[in-house]
Amino acid sequence: MSGAAGAARPATARYRGRFAPSPTGPLHFGSLVAAVASYADALAAGGGWLLRIEDVDTPRTRPGAEDAIVRALSQHGFRWDGPVVRQADRTAMYEAALAHLTAQHAIYACTCTRRALESAPLAASGERVYPGTCRARGAATGTRPVHAAQRVRVGDAVVEFVDLLQGPQRQALASDVGDFVVRRADGLFAYQLAVVVDDAAQGVTTIVRGADLLSSTPRQIFLQRLLALATPDYLHVPVAINAAGEKLSKQTHAAPLPADPLPSLLAAWGFLQQPPPLAAPRTAAEFWAHATRAWSRARLPPVAMLPAPRGA
Ligand code: GLU
Ligand code: ZN
Repeated sequence: MSGAAGAARPATARYRGRFAPSPTGPLHFGSLVAAVASYADALAAGGGWLLRIEDVDTPRTRPGAEDAIVRALSQHGFRWDGPVVRQADRTAMYEAALAHLTAQHAIYACTCTRRALESAPLAASGERVYPGTCRARGAATGTRPVHAAQRVRVGDAVVEFVDLLQGPQRQALASDVGDFVVRRADGLFAYQLAVVVDDAAQGVTTIVRGADLLSSTPRQIFLQRLLALATPDYLHVPVAINAAGEKLSKQTHAAPLPADPLPSLLAAWGFLQQPPPLAAPRTAAEFWAHATRAWSRARLPPVAMLPAPRGA
């Protein structure tokens, strides 16, 4: 084994996908679409599929949401490999990744207040670009000042990748996001760091998820490179929007899924413009048998958002 080879994933690595919901509320049509796309892609590839609960942001975690999500997925016929993994149990791995970044002098402490950052410039994505206020103060510290966030230096990095649906992507991190947070001032690890560590540790080869995360992907690839981790394939499916043009989410009061799984599964399938079954499936298992045979990446609409069907 040569030095850098530790990062490389063999070209023959078996497909492994995942669904990674945040337990902030019950599953709704928008999250079901991402779950259906990722599970169908894995089934069609004869690959594995994992379920990871992204509860790293503990203040946003709602009691009972994890159970409700797991139950709803199970009722909709999803079957995952191995136990459900929770980010809350993986802090030691995030600590190790942060130590790796610290050793490379890639991070520094940021004591900017929320208020101070409100006047930071807005990027095209609508996100605030961190202006680098604390960068010059310099030395990344192992001893974290109280109430300091840890940010990673992006320098002049430009990340390019080809999304399997959305096509070629390019982001200059400095002008689009700036140095970004890997550990928050409250001590919690940032999603961007946790997701990269988890996907690598779990051997995920193919990430199929909503296009709302497309603009986060360059940050994740940037961290993969710093941490010498393999970059998985990415496929970002359109997100479902409501009549007001907002992404379906807990914040926009998306309805929880109804008890009967079949109408929602078929609606998600239709939303993804997949070939309908000839005969209406009678069970979720029949739906998935069809989905395994019929799934077609080529038929996916190559757009970032689409209106949700009526009633979703
Ligand atoms: N937990 C994230 C969410 O619910 C998804 C993360 C991902 O798929 O990478 O939006
Ligand atoms: Zn700062």
